[in-house]
Amino acid sequence: MREFAAGAQRAKEVREMALQVTWDSKVCIHSGNCVKTLPQVFRVENGKFVIEPSAADDEKVRATVAACPSKALKINQSA
Ligand code: SF4
Repeated sequence: MREFAAGAQRAKEVREMALQVTWDSKVCIHSGNCVKTLPQVFRVENGKFVIEPSAADDEKVRATVAACPSKALKINQSA
């Protein structure tokens, strides 16, 4: 029973983990789609591109990543 509880706890932690999004600066064509579509997640702060996936629903983050015209954005599947 204890093992089951530990497994259930791990599953809960996995579900609650935010997506991890990577960005390849060499591939980005700076179209601005991501920062316009989901500014709470994709924004420029002090001249640096910041990605905060936990600031929006996973579905919206995934859709914005999928719409990146250069494919500079990717979901880190191993996370
Ligand atoms: S949507 Fe993609 S190509 Fe456009 S600015 Fe964002 S990362 Fe760069």
